[in-house]
Amino acid sequence: MQVYADNAATAKIRPSALETYVRTARAYFGNPSSLHETGQAAKEVLEESRARIARVINAQPREIVFTSGGSEADNQAILSAAKFGAKKGKKKIVSTAIEHHAVLHVLEQLKKEGYEIVLLPAGNDGIVSVADAEKAIDENTCLVSVMLANNEIGTLQPAAEIGAICKARGVLFHTDAVQAVGHIPVDVKALNCDYLALSAHKFGGPRGIGALYARADAPLFPLVEGGAQERGKRAGTENLPAIAGMATALCEAEAGMAEAAKKVTALREKLIEGLLKIPHCALNGDRNQRLAGNVSFCFEGIEGEGLLLYLSDKGIDASSGSACTSGSLDPSHVLLAIGRVHDVAHGSLRLTLDENNTEEEVDYLIESVAEVVEKIRAFSPVWRDLQAGKRQFIL
Ligand SMILES: *Cc1c(COP(=O)(O)O)cnc(C)c1O
Repeated sequence: MQVYADNAATAKIRPSALETYVRTARAYFGNPSSLHETGQAAKEVLEESRARIARVINAQPREIVFTSGGSEADNQAILSAAKFGAKKGKKKIVSTAIEHHAVLHVLEQLKKEGYEIVLLPAGNDGIVSVADAEKAIDENTCLVSVMLANNEIGTLQPAAEIGAICKARGVLFHTDAVQAVGHIPVDVKALNCDYLALSAHKFGGPRGIGALYARADAPLFPLVEGGAQERGKRAGTENLPAIAGMATALCEAEAGMAEAAKKVTALREKLIEGLLKIPHCALNGDRNQRLAGNVSFCFEGIEGEGLLLYLSDKGIDASSGSACTSGSLDPSHVLLAIGRVHDVAHGSLRLTLDENNTEEEVDYLIESVAEVVEKIRAFSPVWRDLQAGKRQFIL
């Protein structure tokens, strides 16, 4: 059996989005900046797509800047707010220890440039505290950046509450909503955010395309200089087929959201129940405050990498955490931040489902993970020590 359970890394493109992509590439080949009819026809598709995407997140079309994806949108939001803050002598940024690297690595760079970076911890439940955020904000703070849903453990963060505090204190607020958009209702007004990042390939759109929502009067500087596309905020000829495909995917995701969430949550719960029967393991992150499709586990006495390879042999596509940290030997910064010790964090597995997955696939996942965990443990010196009482079980 072949099971794709890595939807948080990238979701399969929706047939409707692919169809829009191909049709747009073929029929609207003009450059939207050209004044002739072919160009203007392309511009119409561009602006229609922008309006559709804006409507879904309750923004105005002029507040949407198309980017190459979530990473670029995160970079542009953070660097814009940082630059604006520096002009006013405010160089403190508050974020969290569980952000995606597209946020954390920008903050590391800013730290080298003299900014004060405060990373809020997450609880053992994988959720950041509103009170901690409130305490960290002071008169030097130019930006707060808190993700809406975590990409490794799926936990939903109190972004709206933190956004409300920022609004009251006159501090800019950015939220990385890449894992949330298309999966849970996202409303930029309700979130009280100045910036929000989204990415098409996480909700069945094409990859290499995303958007940054920037509130109409929020500071915004281009990362890419050149032509006057995107109202001067992002130079370069627009990737029109991908933009149109993203709009189709997002509208379809929104229309089917409630039904998909119900179906996927049922699959997730069945998977969690099944995996919890394996001895010495634990679910990462709060059981309920999480994305419908996210199942993240730690198994004691195993290496996540080995687990992935054996699962791959069984036709299962999974991940140890985020796609970005796979291949490196460091355990996930998210699992360490929620209090997992190194040895335990190394034995992680992330299975992310969507509405294309079936109950039969979940049965196969449960059976296969149990079998592979047992097989790896049989060869593991750590497991032998645990069994012999030379080491204490943590889970
Ligand atoms: C995938 C992801 C990103 C990066 O998006 P790309 O479109 O791949 O650049 C950023 N943040 C989160 C939370 C993600 O899951």
